[in-house]
Amino acid sequence: MTEPMLAVREIRAGYGQIEVLHGVSVEVRPGQVLGVLGPNGAGKTSLVRVISGELRPTAGQVAVAGVDVTGARPERLARAGVATVPEGRGIFPSLSVAEHLRLLARDRREAKALQEHAFSVFPKLAERRNQVAGTMSGGEQQMLALARAVVLRRPLIVIDELSMGLAPQIVESLYQHVADLARDGSTIVLVEQFVHDILGIADQAVVLAHGQVVADGPPTEIADVLADHYLGAG
Ligand code: ATP
Repeated sequence: MTEPMLAVREIRAGYGQIEVLHGVSVEVRPGQVLGVLGPNGAGKTSLVRVISGELRPTAGQVAVAGVDVTGARPERLARAGVATVPEGRGIFPSLSVAEHLRLLARDRREAKALQEHAFSVFPKLAERRNQVAGTMSGGEQQMLALARAVVLRRPLIVIDELSMGLAPQIVESLYQHVADLARDGSTIVLVEQFVHDILGIADQAVVLAHGQVVADGPPTEIADVLADHYLGAG
């Protein structure tokens, strides 16, 4: 069996004295999409922060492509192959699309290559290349946030709340992009509070509640647990 691209084992983490992840384990195989679902405050963003190296776990293990990176800083996680699309997108409103991509490049030649890569995956961004991000639609901004992760060519892309504040059709089209990325070999962790169509593109899904995994399996198998949690939370 192939090595998981990401293996999170029995992770405990929190803020100060307060533990918010109580022994969370998730695993994603190369080229698969893992959906991480859960209601508000379940610990989804904290899990993303553990995977990106921003939040140091107090116990447990994180391995990327078989390499133990537990407690490593973000730079090392990046080198190990993790790219993150943060909640809220992390876009600079006064910078253009081209400038966002240029920030990732060491020189003009690389900047050009990154642009070409971004525009081939997201042709719509080419039309917006000189527009400042603050004046773009929410969907376009999210596309830019995704593009920024994609051009880094890291094998694992972790996306926190892709759908936040976006209309369902826009979310659907972004999910298609995510599915395409997986088809081209990327491994994806897609974190969402609401279910949307995540179950349509996820190969596996986990449900987090109160800092614990309460369901784990193929999307079809966890549908009932999800219904319980969301009805319970509502
Ligand atoms: P949401 O969908 O609202 O972002 P979430 O599932 O992503 O929720 P987290 O943001 O990981 O959940 O939050 C889990 C718990 O940790 C919550 O109780 C939250 O209040 C707490 N928490 C998150 N960030 C911090 C922080 N920086 N300092 C203290 N507590 C925090």
